[in-house]
Amino acid sequence: MAALLVCALRTVALAGTEMAITIDDLPAHGALPQGMQRMEIARRIISVLQARAVPGVYGFVNGAQVRDNPGYLEILKHWVQAGFHLGNHTFSHLDIDRVATAEYVADIEKNETFLTDFARDDSARVFRYPYLHEGRTPSQRTPVRQWLAGRRYRIAHVTVHFDDWAWNDAYARCVERSDERAIDDLKRSFMKAAMERFEWARAVSHTLFKRQIRHILLLHVGAFDALMLDELLRAYQNAGMTAVTLRAAMEDPAYTRYDDTWQGGMTFLLRVAHARRAAIPPAPTIPLERLNAVCR
Ligand SMILES: [Zn+2]
Repeated sequence: MAALLVCALRTVALAGTEMAITIDDLPAHGALPQGMQRMEIARRIISVLQARAVPGVYGFVNGAQVRDNPGYLEILKHWVQAGFHLGNHTFSHLDIDRVATAEYVADIEKNETFLTDFARDDSARVFRYPYLHEGRTPSQRTPVRQWLAGRRYRIAHVTVHFDDWAWNDAYARCVERSDERAIDDLKRSFMKAAMERFEWARAVSHTLFKRQIRHILLLHVGAFDALMLDELLRAYQNAGMTAVTLRAAMEDPAYTRYDDTWQGGMTFLLRVAHARRAAIPPAPTIPLERLNAVCR
């Protein structure tokens, strides 16, 4: 089984892979390490994306953060000045599984009003579900989807995700302790998870679609993401990745017809596999417990 998988991965690796880079939870995500500023984190992410010529990047915004920290507005302004786009991620980062439909929709609309000040073209009309939760039942899912479609929202799916968020709090704790060795370990485990999930997504795309669909990577606007972004993009590029705009990725026909099946926070490829009852290898595991325990 393992040998077969390695063989499949090697074959897939020969194919070029187009991928959009998306950044969630703007303007700020995760713990802030000692001596660092939120603007500095955002600036670093922006400058790496620019240096690596990543086009049409979307950052998905929760407006409530700016209500609570008015100074964060400058981060959004800087993002837009850099030529990037802002998408809707609900005002309050709500979980559709935990609130009533009316509350959820009102929160998206509130964020839309907030984002209108920053909108470039139609850029605010891209939505990403917080936690990738789309609702457990059709009665939760359908009205929200219909509302989004009525407002001409496109849904930003995710095919490559390695729980990047989980490294940010661990990093802040290790900075506090000046534990360089632990930080080096974090860097290694981050890159390992990132590459394993990328190769897994390519293998699964090949299994399900007989080709590489245009992938969509989910990252967060956190301190460790900022620290690692250049190395991450370099590694992806060395592995055959070409960065494309999110809009171009969303045009891939794979995303236009998908089946209405849902189990928790599934990424797009898992959902397709689940709907088709297709056999795919399990996603490589992420060391969440270890990350949660380090530098305590
Ligand atoms: Zn989020």
